[in-house]
Amino acid sequence: MGHFRTHRLGELTWTEARDAAAQNPIVLLPSGAIEQHGSHLPLNEDAITAEWVSEYIAAHLETPVLVAPTLSYGHSPIFDGFAGTLNLSFETLQAVLFEVMDSLVKHGFRRIVIVNNNGGNQASAAHAAEQLRAKYGVLVGSVYPWGIGYRVMRDLYEDPATAYGHGSEPEHSAMLAMFPELVQSQLITDGGLAPFEGWTPTNYTEGAIPGTVESGTLYWDFSDVAPSGVTGNPRLGSAELGAEWIKRVAHDVCLGFVAEFERNTANALWARA
Ligand SMILES: [Zn+2]
Repeated sequence: MGHFRTHRLGELTWTEARDAAAQNPIVLLPSGAIEQHGSHLPLNEDAITAEWVSEYIAAHLETPVLVAPTLSYGHSPIFDGFAGTLNLSFETLQAVLFEVMDSLVKHGFRRIVIVNNNGGNQASAAHAAEQLRAKYGVLVGSVYPWGIGYRVMRDLYEDPATAYGHGSEPEHSAMLAMFPELVQSQLITDGGLAPFEGWTPTNYTEGAIPGTVESGTLYWDFSDVAPSGVTGNPRLGSAELGAEWIKRVAHDVCLGFVAEFERNTANALWARA
């Protein structure tokens, strides 16, 4: 911050972007999804949260950083059973991520970190980054705030085994802290997994194998096993837990990763145009 007129790449003019590239800043690329998160949270949650975390990083990093316009659409086929879920195919998302990053590199922005907040986007992002590395030798970074949260917040979960999921306490809490005006806590419905065609789901992608502690993967729709769209217990959510999520996830890990990316890539040969 403070190095450019604005850190939002889309708000620069082309001449300002040209001059900014000469300073070799990291560019953050927020990537989200438009998918269901229960009856109390908005469809665009992953996209606005990716952007929020990117803005947070830009506000706290001491070296130049730009935030590219958010890629709101993502890959969420597992939620096709819920109205309003807008899905790009794996191939389309991979192509879009690659082509946006390819454009950045062509214009001199060679240090890119994807702030991806949808698990369904991870494989597309990985393939796009591999393509970019093969073409230009650049090393792309990526952080996944929701995924990080499930690891670094475990000691605060009432039941870590069921906390992971959609619309449950972790998402509800983080959204209360970041976007309280978009949360409708009064509309929370009970979450949980329901038996499906003889299967006993152990989470929303796996069914129990009787007589063992193992589960097998099943490519069912989320709505097959969690009709309300929610797993875990969203009623445990609070703005206080969300504030802790911001500290541990956005500050300690995501900001920490980008700061480390800055240190380790500033003088890399591939980072020089
Ligand atoms: Zn999501």
